[in-house]
Amino acid sequence: MHHITILDLTFAFATETEFSTVARAVAKRSYRPLYRTLIGSAASAFGLPSFNTDPGQIFKEARYVYEEEGGEGIFPELFFRDNYLIAVVPLKETTRLILIRHHTSKNGTPPFEQDFIECIQSEVDGRRTKNWRPEVPLIPLKELPRVNNGRTGPDRFSDLVLNPASYTTEEAEMAEVMSQDHLRNAIIGIARSVKTKLGDAEKDLTKQQIEQLKNHRLVRTEYLVQCRGNSSTLCTVTDKDDLVINHGNKLRCPHCNRLFKDELVTDVLSLSDECKRLLDKSHWMTVWITKLIVISGVPVQHISWNASLQSDEIDIVVDIFGSKVFFELKDREFGLGDAFPFNHRFHRYGGDHGAIVTTDSIATEAEKFFKEQSSSRSSAIRFFSRGTDLAVELQRYVEEIAIRTLIAQLTRHLTISGVNEVPWIREWLK
Ligand SMILES: [Zn+2]
Repeated sequence: MHHITILDLTFAFATETEFSTVARAVAKRSYRPLYRTLIGSAASAFGLPSFNTDPGQIFKEARYVYEEEGGEGIFPELFFRDNYLIAVVPLKETTRLILIRHHTSKNGTPPFEQDFIECIQSEVDGRRTKNWRPEVPLIPLKELPRVNNGRTGPDRFSDLVLNPASYTTEEAEMAEVMSQDHLRNAIIGIARSVKTKLGDAEKDLTKQQIEQLKNHRLVRTEYLVQCRGNSSTLCTVTDKDDLVINHGNKLRCPHCNRLFKDELVTDVLSLSDECKRLLDKSHWMTVWITKLIVISGVPVQHISWNASLQSDEIDIVVDIFGSKVFFELKDREFGLGDAFPFNHRFHRYGGDHGAIVTTDSIATEAEKFFKEQSSSRSSAIRFFSRGTDLAVELQRYVEEIAIRTLIAQLTRHLTISGVNEVPWIREWLK
């Protein structure tokens, strides 16, 4: 996934010319400016290669308006270098730097903030920068501004109590095993009968699959001791040594007086405590889907579980660059009766995107219901049902939202009439 950082520099440009001087100095440090390149190309078409004009003069109708500051500002600039797109937005009291790292680039930051500060110090009148002490590195905005996806009216998102997603590598591996239908069904079978004789389990599962469940500590083998005389259950032990060497060699059956170790001993499977916990309320699904979202590139700190307010609960809330994505998980068919409450929560708490993941199917009625609802909103609910390659599809979904939101984050800073840079940005983000 792409990466975005927003930094505010405690320096405000006074005039368009002042900013232009700095922008040109930045361009000399191998950052390619977008608007100034456009103007440069136009100038060279006129045969005026060295003619420098401020963008504000060229894009005459263009008035950059930063919605939260209200009012006209200095024309911003977009710079490109390596796998970075950097927007510099002069605001009334600060200068906002938006750094977007391309998803194909894993690391390596151009020293933009340092370069930019040096350019200010060298180009701007020294009387203006004399007492200016920029603190480097700059601290990024902790929370990206909320993107409005056609929402109207206030929402109650901030009222929700968010619980940070948290799981261990081991739990994630367990959850992944449990995501396989036949293995999960076997686990549910064991849970129902409390203990399943190994022989019975082998009817449904291969030895290899049973080993897999054991290796991931989802199930464990126990030994059931039964009276050879009347078949009553005497005890279950988890350690065979206990039976052969220790207690089993001392305790005698109250019915037939045999030593426990001489009674009928059967291997049985039972669920580990971790497995029981993952099975409870289908917690495995929360862990599994979270892991897939994390693999898609969303930091785990941006994922919350069971976001709730009174009886309302949202299984997973993901923050992607300021867009809120609500996930509803169902380890069964998602029916019309599930659709109403989810739709209510989605609107009440201002979800920007909604995803329904089910291990079964989505009832046609439920799908139809959302289709009717989504006409009034720019974003719709997406369905992921049985048979979907979730690892692939969720990644695609997350990236799609990421790109859409990045463009929204950028364009809210670059309200410019006359130039629509979005088609280029969209192409660059691919
Ligand atoms: Zn007995």
